[in-house]
Amino acid sequence: MAEQKGIPTGSQIEVVSPATRERLGEVAVDSPAEVKAAVARARQASRIWAATPLSTRAKVLRLAGDSIFDHREELVELLSRENGKPRMEALTELAYVGDMLAFYGRRGKRFLDPHRITPHMMLNKRVTIHYQPRGVIGFITPWNFPLILTVGEAIPALVAGNAVVIKPSEWTPLIARRGVELLRESLAAHGVPVDIIQVVNGYGETGAALVDEVDMISFTGSTATGRRVAMRAAERLIPCSLELGGKDPMIVLRDADLERAANAAVWGAFTNSGQVCISVERVYVDATVADRFTDLVVARTRELRQGFDGDEADSDRRVDVGAMTWPRQIETVTAHVDDAREKGAAILTGGRLNPALPGNFYEPTVLAGVDHSMRIMTEETFGPVLPIMPVQDEAEALRLANDSRYALNASVWTANRANGERLAANVAAGITCVNDVIVGFAVTDAPSGGLKESGIGKRHGAEGIRRFCNQQVIITDRFGLKRELIWYPYSAGFEKGLARVLSFLYSNRLSRKIRALFG
Ligand code: NDP
Repeated sequence: MAEQKGIPTGSQIEVVSPATRERLGEVAVDSPAEVKAAVARARQASRIWAATPLSTRAKVLRLAGDSIFDHREELVELLSRENGKPRMEALTELAYVGDMLAFYGRRGKRFLDPHRITPHMMLNKRVTIHYQPRGVIGFITPWNFPLILTVGEAIPALVAGNAVVIKPSEWTPLIARRGVELLRESLAAHGVPVDIIQVVNGYGETGAALVDEVDMISFTGSTATGRRVAMRAAERLIPCSLELGGKDPMIVLRDADLERAANAAVWGAFTNSGQVCISVERVYVDATVADRFTDLVVARTRELRQGFDGDEADSDRRVDVGAMTWPRQIETVTAHVDDAREKGAAILTGGRLNPALPGNFYEPTVLAGVDHSMRIMTEETFGPVLPIMPVQDEAEALRLANDSRYALNASVWTANRANGERLAANVAAGITCVNDVIVGFAVTDAPSGGLKESGIGKRHGAEGIRRFCNQQVIITDRFGLKRELIWYPYSAGFEKGLARVLSFLYSNRLSRKIRALFG
C-alpha cells in the first residue's frame, strides 16, 4: 500500500486493500473548517435528539441497526478487503454492533434514569442524580477494528442523547462511511435529524480540529497520540477518554490445562493478526511445563491457514489469519523480531512476511529464549508474534507481568480457580481473565479500560454510557424552615453547641473512651 502521510488538506485519501492490493475507493480529506461545520450541524441536531425520550432513541437506533444486518454480506466483504481480516473476524465486528444496540437499548434507561441517594448526614435534603447528554462527542479511531470502534463505539453516546462526529483511521475510512450511511438512511426514514451521526476524514490535522470543536473526545490509538489529544482536551477543559496501547501478559502456572492454554495463546496472539490492543503479547510459563506448552503452541501455530477469504461467502474455504492493515506496523513487528533474534531469541516458527501471498501477510510467529532486555517483551508489538518465557514460579511471573508501562489486560492459567483469582487481583491490568483471553471486551456489562499508560476512562457497563453524560445533582430542601442553623446571623451560643456536637461525632478521644467503657 502506498504511504499516504503528508497529502495536503483538500486532497483525497486513496484506500488500497492490504490483503489483495486492489484499489477500493477514496475519501476526501476534511479541512478544519469542514470539521467545524460538521460539529455545528451535529450540535444543532443534538438538541432535537436530546429532547427525544431515551426509550424512543433506543428504539430508533435498534431499527437503524437492522439495516446494518440487512447488509451483512456487503459489510463483511468490505471490512475484510479494507482491513485484511478473515470473514469470521469481520462478522464479529457486526456482532459487537448488534450487542451494543441490544445492551444499551435495554439497559440504557436503567443506567441513565435519575436516581435518589440518601445522604449520610443531611437527612433533611432530597438528593437526585441526573445524567444529561454532553452535546457532541468526537471519536478518533484506529484501523484495527474499523466498525466496532466507529459505529459500535458511537452507540452508547447516541443512546445517551448526544450527537457524534467520527474521524476513522485514514487507513480504513470506507467501512465507517458505509456503516454510518446505513444508519443515517434509517434514521431519516424515522424522522430523526441525520446529523446526529457524521464522519469526517483525514489525518492528524483533521483529528486535532475535531478535538478543538467537540464537547468530549474519545480516542483509541497510540499512547503518544493519546497524550497529545489529552493535552489539547486539558487546554479546552473538555473530558476525554483514552484507550491506548497494551503489552498484555499471559501467566501459565504448572497446574494449568496446557491444551486449553496453548489454544488460547495461539488465538489470543494471532486473531486479527495480533492487531488487538488486548491481544496476548507475552507469555510467562512455569519452567516445569514450558517445553510441553511451547510444543503445543508451535504445533497449533503451524496449522493456521493464512490468506484472504473476504469474497468466499459461497464457498467453504476459510482462513484463520489475515493481512496486517498498516504497512508501518510490519516495520515495528520486524524490528522487534530482529532485535530479539540479535539478542539470542529463537524463532520457532514464522518470523517473516508470507512469501506465498501478495499482501501484508506476516506469518504467525513464535519466539523462545526471550527476556526483558528485548523490545518484544517490553514494547507494544501489535502484530502476530508470541514470545514465550519460562519462569521459576508464580512470584517471578507476577513480577515480570507487572514490569510494564502498560496495564490493559492480562490472563492467568491454572486448575485452581481461587488461586487464579487471587493472583489475578495482583496483576496490574484493567481486566485480568482466569483461564480465558480477550473475552473482557465481549463482557459488555463490565467496565473495560486500561491503567498506567494504557489509558483513562472505561467503555462498557454503566460507566460506558455515563461517561458520555454530564452528571447533574439536584438537592431539594425537605422541611422549608425559615432559616437553616448555619445561616446568618452567627451566634456564640450556636458555635459552642456545634463544637460539642462535633467532638461527640468526630473526636477519637471520645470514641476511645466509649470503646473502653464497653470493653
Ligand atoms: P495513532 O495513535 O498514531 O493515530 C490515530 C489517529 O489520530 C490518526 O488518524 C492520526 O492522524 C490522528 N492524530 C494524530 N495526531 C493527532 C492529534 N494531535 N490530534 C488528534 N488526532 C491526531 O494511531 P495509528 O493508527 O497511526 O497507530 C499507531 C500505533 O497505535 C500502533 O503502532 C499501535 O501500537 C497503536 N494502536 C493502538 C490501538 C488500540 O486499540 N489501543 C489501535 C491501533 C493502533 P495521523 O495518522 O495523520 O497521525
